[in-house]
Amino acid sequence: MKNSATRRSFFAWTRNATAATGLLGTSSVRADAAVASDAHAEDYYDKLGVTKIINAAGTYTALTASIMPPSVQAAVARAAKHPVRLAELQQKSGEYIAGRLKCEAALVCAGASSALTLGTAACMTVGNRQAVSMLPLDVSGLKNEVIVQKGHRYGYDHAIKNCGVRFVEVETLAQYEAAFTARTVMCHFYNAAEEGQIAREKWIEVAHRHGVPCFNDAAADVPPISNLWNYTQMGFDLVTFSGGKGLRGPQNAGLLLGRKDLIEAASWSNSPHDETVGRGMKVAKEQIIGMVAALDWFLAQTDDGMQAEYRSRANRIVAQLKHIPTLTHEVIVPPLANAIPHLLLRYDQARVKISPLDVAETLRKGTPSIELNPTTGRKGGSAGLPNGEHIIVIGVWMLQPGEDLIVARRLRDVLLKAAA
Ligand SMILES: *Cc1c(COP(=O)(O)O)cnc(C)c1O
Repeated sequence: MKNSATRRSFFAWTRNATAATGLLGTSSVRADAAVASDAHAEDYYDKLGVTKIINAAGTYTALTASIMPPSVQAAVARAAKHPVRLAELQQKSGEYIAGRLKCEAALVCAGASSALTLGTAACMTVGNRQAVSMLPLDVSGLKNEVIVQKGHRYGYDHAIKNCGVRFVEVETLAQYEAAFTARTVMCHFYNAAEEGQIAREKWIEVAHRHGVPCFNDAAADVPPISNLWNYTQMGFDLVTFSGGKGLRGPQNAGLLLGRKDLIEAASWSNSPHDETVGRGMKVAKEQIIGMVAALDWFLAQTDDGMQAEYRSRANRIVAQLKHIPTLTHEVIVPPLANAIPHLLLRYDQARVKISPLDVAETLRKGTPSIELNPTTGRKGGSAGLPNGEHIIVIGVWMLQPGEDLIVARRLRDVLLKAAA
């Protein structure tokens, strides 16, 4: 197998941490498994009485999304020991990232949401640095219209609107062509949108014919690894990825990638510059280094290795559930966002008398507290996951070493009891 060395290294820490802690199944083992290196640090979650959870949901911000791999945690801890010059750190980290991701330029920002704000600000102020402080209220003299497909309006619109722009919605290609005015500043694309008639290449082509930059929000859309350069190489002028989702970097970091002049303009609106829309979106030195280290970690993986590991976690869970009457399982990979194996469990609720929603609540209230994917038991799917009304949905990719078995055994106990 080619790349077997990197495939091995991806999960070496998983096995080592599991082996080092020996026993599985208690919450302290679970919580400490991945952080053996900071055994001397005080556990402030315990001190504050904050419940540590098992994340069988996925990269949800409300669940603090991802855990940084040990190499990233170590890089963050090391970076915390030295002051540096922030401008130099921002510049050199950006150059390093751009080199690794085959794009012109890059900026570490405070998450994909912040990248949307800074990228929009960049489109409005490129070549006109004096305009930076006019955002968001004094923009009548600036281009301030963002074209977007109606089906691409979403919960992150606000990050764009923070710059004082207004959206111009289109549905058909003809409407898109007709939507450009002297005030058009950017064309926005939501990469994982499930609706919209105009495909990426066409979106870019039309925008560029009108001399307008295109932004693609691909925040949750790795793996596959190659997405990190696919969209900039396709021609998008700006692309963002969340740092704390699939990349497993710091939760409050993200990547803004793209054209050199736009990335430079984005940096004008970024912390530490005041009188800017981005001054509150500070990324500390620890998080900048963490983002770079996470990228190094992620690029050392393989798509096959990641997919295989997540499938084997799903299989380990299923193996514990084989005595649950009527239970069937399916492993699905959503098409774009969170494109990794998710485990779906279905059963006859006349035989196993508990609803998926009640299973989720029971696991949440148990010890250790487990969060299943929020689609569980809920009408209407999300982000490529099906209607979960009658399904238990398990996102396995954010589980820590050994936690798949803990989740499996809790599920088995709760379902068997309901089947008795
Ligand atoms: C998660 C997400 C964001 C926000 O990412 P953060 O890094 O949490 O700021 C933006 N857009 C989409 C599509 C997302 O999924």
